[in-house]
Amino acid sequence: MTDRIISALPHLVENLSPEEHEIWGRIYTISRHEGRLILPEALREEEAKYAPFRSQQITRVTNLHSGESTLFNELRAKRPLEARRDEVPVRELEAGNGCPFCDPLKTTPSDVFGRVEGRFCLTASNLAKYDALHALVIFRQHHPFICEEEKIRDFLDVAQTWFLRAQQYDPRARYPFFMWNCLWRAGASIIHGHAQALLAVEPYQSVEDWLHTCDSYRKRFGSGYGEDLFRLHEALGLGRSYREGGILACLTPVKEKEMMILAPAVENLPPLISRVLSLYHRLGVCSFNLAIFQPPLNVSGPVMARVVDRGDLLSRSSDIGGMELYGGTAVVSSDPFVMMDALAAQNSEG
Ligand SMILES: [Zn+2]
Repeated sequence: MTDRIISALPHLVENLSPEEHEIWGRIYTISRHEGRLILPEALREEEAKYAPFRSQQITRVTNLHSGESTLFNELRAKRPLEARRDEVPVRELEAGNGCPFCDPLKTTPSDVFGRVEGRFCLTASNLAKYDALHALVIFRQHHPFICEEEKIRDFLDVAQTWFLRAQQYDPRARYPFFMWNCLWRAGASIIHGHAQALLAVEPYQSVEDWLHTCDSYRKRFGSGYGEDLFRLHEALGLGRSYREGGILACLTPVKEKEMMILAPAVENLPPLISRVLSLYHRLGVCSFNLAIFQPPLNVSGPVMARVVDRGDLLSRSSDIGGMELYGGTAVVSSDPFVMMDALAAQNSEG
């Protein structure tokens, strides 16, 4: 039996059905290379610890359409997935007097077209904007660890309503972008739970790439890119159907533990996002980025959400380095097969 780890991927690809193997060839390439080294005398004394480093198998997977490429080192991938035991600085996560989002009607600006209010959140106009139409979706709960479906549905509903209001204000703007940066490792400057909504005249580059890939893939192959991506991941044991969509452990994650969600529309996303964030919480992930890729307003079409772990809250080293920023090739320690097994275990438990 083949191990379910990333280094076994070439073998699993060889065993795909002819149809799925053809889809693999449309989307991905894979290569494996051995990295070798000579240990100095001092390290040879700890033979058991360092011997495995003498020969390291590197697996590289590239998506020919998105251009995403990821390096997995078998030595790292073989590590068991253990819940992180960060000493979460709980005191810092509790509401304090100085929290600018605990009383947002008093302490945050509104958009010129007003606020959108939901049961679990409300919008504010971002004080220093990334782009002309930029709102914060401020959660009514201070503590940012949220994975309940009904709360996530409210956040997305409020954001979608804000997109429509923003478009009434500026009819040229039609490209929505929802993102959630949870805690400082993910780029959030304020601890209080909040997400962000932007509506742009031109799509942001990753959204444009996604829309372009879906369009060109259908024209070239006559099938849906998202459907084929899911079919392939499912055949490899890296995708599972859930409710109205699918959850994938990406073959080309941008960074650690990345999960991708595919669904027919934004309103189908809440239970899937809830499932992935529940898994993250169980694994001790505290800081993450989540983004939703969706078609322009008033255009129907499939949507994608991506969620990525941003690492230990107490770590001083950044998870993103030169390889990710300039090498264009992420170096990832977590194994997609291990992530999908953890999700499957959660499904059977829950
Ligand atoms: Zn607060």
